[in-house]
Amino acid sequence: NRRWVLASRPHGAPVADNFRLEEQPIPTPANGQVLLRTVWLSLDPYMRGRMSDAPSYSPPVEIGAVMVGGTVSRVETSRHPDYKEGEWVLGYSGWQEYALSDGQGLVKLGDSPSHPSWALGVLGMPGFTAYMGLLDIGQPREGETLVVAAATGPVGATVGQIGKIKGCRVVGVAGGEEKCRHAVEVLGFDACIDHHADDFAEQLASACPQGIDVYYENVGGKVFDAVLPLLNTSARVPVCGLVSGYNATNLPDGPDRLPLLMGTILKKRIRMQGFIIAQDYGHRIDEFQQEMGRWVKEGKIHYREQVIEGLEAAPDALIGLLEGKNFGKVVIRVAAD
Ligand code: NDP
Repeated sequence: NRRWVLASRPHGAPVADNFRLEEQPIPTPANGQVLLRTVWLSLDPYMRGRMSDAPSYSPPVEIGAVMVGGTVSRVETSRHPDYKEGEWVLGYSGWQEYALSDGQGLVKLGDSPSHPSWALGVLGMPGFTAYMGLLDIGQPREGETLVVAAATGPVGATVGQIGKIKGCRVVGVAGGEEKCRHAVEVLGFDACIDHHADDFAEQLASACPQGIDVYYENVGGKVFDAVLPLLNTSARVPVCGLVSGYNATNLPDGPDRLPLLMGTILKKRIRMQGFIIAQDYGHRIDEFQQEMGRWVKEGKIHYREQVIEGLEAAPDALIGLLEGKNFGKVVIRVAAD
């Protein structure tokens, strides 16, 4: 059983030495347990947070412990009455080839799901995050302007496409020309601006001639700086993630912009709300699954995955994800079906 453990805590961006590959015997299930064989492992930005011991909404991974992560697995051996061998399950085995489970927290995906890995993306946690953050907090209305960054990632791509379903003008922000083209041509956004451009803020302003009514916050940093002056009175800002700062070791230099932010919130009566999907919306998963399942089946939501082969590639893939090297939802194919 090969597995990646946390070898040390990163200072700034994670590096290869923060991870260690170990090999252990495959565990044997006791009565009431199943042995799961990982087929797909999800990589997500929150994993950077789990590598750190700074206070957060979830405890950190301990040094020497297996890196956490959502997985789609098959039941290899079952000593549990509710599970049979070969069945597909969504679980949280982490960065390893095999794991034991007593069934707690497992979600059955059936005997032959058509796209098992999608349970880690558009039909799973990132899709759910996009759906709830946008609809419950963002409350987009027809004709409004919605802006979302990390526009080709699993959260941003889903947010923008739901925005289109709701009749918004959708402006994406993404890193590079190819991602921007994808957002417009494949995902159906009205415009997409490359945040690497020198005149990014000016380009964003021209793409939002009516201002911004909903800014779905995925990245923070200079994207938020460019968005702030464009927010309309009564704008909504679901604060979902701040990935541009996950590797930061200090607060940014420069003038204190907190008074500008607070003044804007006050004068424009802006509603900003953070949320953590599982904690805040776990009870509404059925609603999401029904509606998103239907949209995906009807072809209304397009989904792009970046499949990376082999568990050994996981650390580099996570390091790359935090730098925007991914294009679409990153999943590791740990083993063949
Ligand atoms: P993505 O696959 O979109 O990956 C992150 C992307 O962020 C990168 O590909 C890159 O895209 C962009 N990015 C990285 N650094 C910067 C930067 N400095 N400036 C601008 N963009 C940057 O991730 P997800 O879709 O999985 O997640 C999106 C956000 O949602 C994250 O912040 C994540 O933490 C958050 N999240 C929050 C949850 C919650 O419960 N609150 C649950 C799930 C996710 P590009 O190259 O296009 O800039």
